[in-house]
Amino acid sequence: MRRAGRMVAEVLMLLRDRIRPGVTTLELDRIAENQCRKWKVKPAFKGYGGFPFTICASPNEQIVHGFPNDVPLLEGDILSIDFGLICDGFYGDHAITFPVGEVDQETRRLLEITSQSLQQGIDAARPDGFLSDISHAVQTCVEVAGYSVVREFVGHGIGRQLHEDPQIPNYGKPGSGPRLRPGMTLAIEPMVNAGKPGVKILDDGWTAVTVDGKRSAHFEHTVAITDNGPEILSRMDV
Ligand code: MG
Repeated sequence: MRRAGRMVAEVLMLLRDRIRPGVTTLELDRIAENQCRKWKVKPAFKGYGGFPFTICASPNEQIVHGFPNDVPLLEGDILSIDFGLICDGFYGDHAITFPVGEVDQETRRLLEITSQSLQQGIDAARPDGFLSDISHAVQTCVEVAGYSVVREFVGHGIGRQLHEDPQIPNYGKPGSGPRLRPGMTLAIEPMVNAGKPGVKILDDGWTAVTVDGKRSAHFEHTVAITDNGPEILSRMDV
């Protein structure tokens, strides 16, 4: 799991270094796919439920599951990239919303709060805590800031499968659901809308966008619960 986590982090850092105005999300998709080929590992999303690409690339008002395409990114855009792979039978799953060039202050705040809500969710993933402690921590951070959590998509257990039980909603009261135990591995992934929480799916059957057209951000880490607390696996220094 650590190896898979390090690899997904490395790919997202590769992509981060390429993101700038004029680049297309299809180019980013190819970079991710080539890196997988180089490592002889399998991208996790391509073919999953029929998803046709290596990365999910969701700009601006797209929330998740966007298709890479040949439309150049513009200065001031944001781009959510979600990427997973399988290494030696284990999955890693990781997402970051990147600014394209300089973004306005309100957008910067959306990215900061979403990233913060992920960190608070991770901090709540303590051995002998409850699953919904994670949900509650994310929701509180987001709503205190005046934003909305997306309810239609959830975090999940991860390991030998990409999506395992339990589901991890980004909202809920603390102190319920399964107990958290050392050895559990979870993908925690707040999706945060700047405006209303509603979601609609485009005609491609995949791309989720905000109903009000406002922007949305998505941050995700693969996390292990250890005796000493949560450990982020999707990072380069593990
Ligand atoms: Mg995930």
